[in-house]
Amino acid sequence: MKTAPNRLVLATSNRGKLAELQPLLADAGFTLVTQGELGVEDAVEDGLTFLENALIKARHACRATGLPALGDDSGLVVDALGGAPGLYSARYAGEHGNAGANIAKLLHEMRDLKGAQRRAHFYCVIVLLRHAEDPQPLVAEGVWQGEVLEAPRGDGGFGYDPVFLDPRHAASAAMIEPSLKNRISHRGLALARLRERLHEFTAC
Ligand code: IMP
Repeated sequence: MKTAPNRLVLATSNRGKLAELQPLLADAGFTLVTQGELGVEDAVEDGLTFLENALIKARHACRATGLPALGDDSGLVVDALGGAPGLYSARYAGEHGNAGANIAKLLHEMRDLKGAQRRAHFYCVIVLLRHAEDPQPLVAEGVWQGEVLEAPRGDGGFGYDPVFLDPRHAASAAMIEPSLKNRISHRGLALARLRERLHEFTAC
């Protein structure tokens, strides 16, 4: 007899993330539902690290629904800017999700930086919480190393993709086809690591 799949809440209202995660987690016997579909408001992301924000989002979704939850956080980190845009990547220029304004601000802040000072990486962390008090969340991280271009290149992708150069592929993230990006990106790597460790989540 087939057992009923476990329900898992995605701590986001973003249906794009649902589409990305559903196949991965379906393999492991989970059915995903976004917190938006369950009428749960977004959490206040007031952590000081990506990890704290991912946990805050997942814990908020667990509390509101009584279901296990998945939270994630990601962003672009430039060492020469002290880690900025970092946690504030989505709203670096003020307005949430205005990629053009965020890129313009980033290029302005980096206008005098050359060579190794333009190094940057994308970071992504994904956490799974069994319940709101789970002391041992499953944590998976991914990093994508590159550098910030002096001007945008390519018109695919989203966010900072047009100004993020992957030197190994001699292309900006906006020029790299999605299936390759999914394999090499911070999010792709975090998802792959999550997949490897999912058995730990179900076993506890
Ligand atoms: P979130 O993790 O969905 O909150 O994403 C945070 C922000 O980081 C996004 O709004 C983008 O500005 C930036 N970001 C994260 N991942 C990527 C990526 O793969 N390409 C470009 N920008 C990204």
